[in-house]
Amino acid sequence: MSTAVITSDSSTDHLTGSGHPEKPDRVSSVIQVLKRNKNLIWDKSKKFDESLLDLTHSSNYVSEVKKSFPKQGLGFLDGDTIISPGSKKATVDAVGSIVCAIDGIENKKFKNAFCAVRPPGHHAEKEKAMGFCIYNNIAVGAQYLITKYKYKKIAIIDFDVHHGNGTQDIFYENEKVLYISTHQYPYYPGSGNENEKGKYNNVLNIPLPAGTTSDEYLNAYNHVINKLIEFKPEFMMFSAGFDAHRDDPLAQIHLSSQDFYEITKRTMLSTQNFTNGKVVSILEGGYDLKALAESTLLHVNALVEFNK
Ligand SMILES: [Zn+2]
Repeated sequence: MSTAVITSDSSTDHLTGSGHPEKPDRVSSVIQVLKRNKNLIWDKSKKFDESLLDLTHSSNYVSEVKKSFPKQGLGFLDGDTIISPGSKKATVDAVGSIVCAIDGIENKKFKNAFCAVRPPGHHAEKEKAMGFCIYNNIAVGAQYLITKYKYKKIAIIDFDVHHGNGTQDIFYENEKVLYISTHQYPYYPGSGNENEKGKYNNVLNIPLPAGTTSDEYLNAYNHVINKLIEFKPEFMMFSAGFDAHRDDPLAQIHLSSQDFYEITKRTMLSTQNFTNGKVVSILEGGYDLKALAESTLLHVNALVEFNK
């Protein structure tokens, strides 16, 4: 069995205006570099029952979002979160990619999957678009695992340089989901201090100061591994943001591209006895196109290695 990459053609139709860091080229450059790995299966985001969105967001929020897309030009959901006519399909397809990834793994079409889509999701809260995020793609995926496939222990590892306030908020009182985040702190969005632990001790925040080096980061990552071993996840998900890269223009953590391979491999090694290798990863941030493409390829290469 192989690793799949799930894409959607609509990802590049979600326009954010010139000069916005969360731009369509991000996905194009990731897809282009992933073509270098000849062991990947390629699949496209599929339609799904959109009532699934209501398990994560309020139905009022979902209907407000659906009404908000402009017929032409750009609109705003918050100061940073810009939408265009093409965002209507892109937002649904971003969620559809993770549904497709989960179904493919459960139906044994492939072993694990990476979703190369946008907009990202981890800042989106139950009733709030925020920080380039509209629907919380990974949270909807975790709810799908719980409701459709009856999983009781899902781990979400969020290595995006920003704290995933939305994902934390959605699962703060849900003992079926362990949310772990490593992020620059204090920084946008402001949440993610280590005292935020979840109702069931199901949240682990690892705040890191600006200027954190590779060695310091990898050292701190041991806490991620220990928490995962303690939790014993049946299914693992990565909120894969690559903006902790040293070349990223939005943050000040100094990881190399190779470090993303390292943390992926270490995470998968430590959990494979529990997950049986069932892993879905989805693109979040990462704003230097070269660093983003290179880091994503190394992250996906680590996913591929676990199929052998
Ligand atoms: Zn980010």
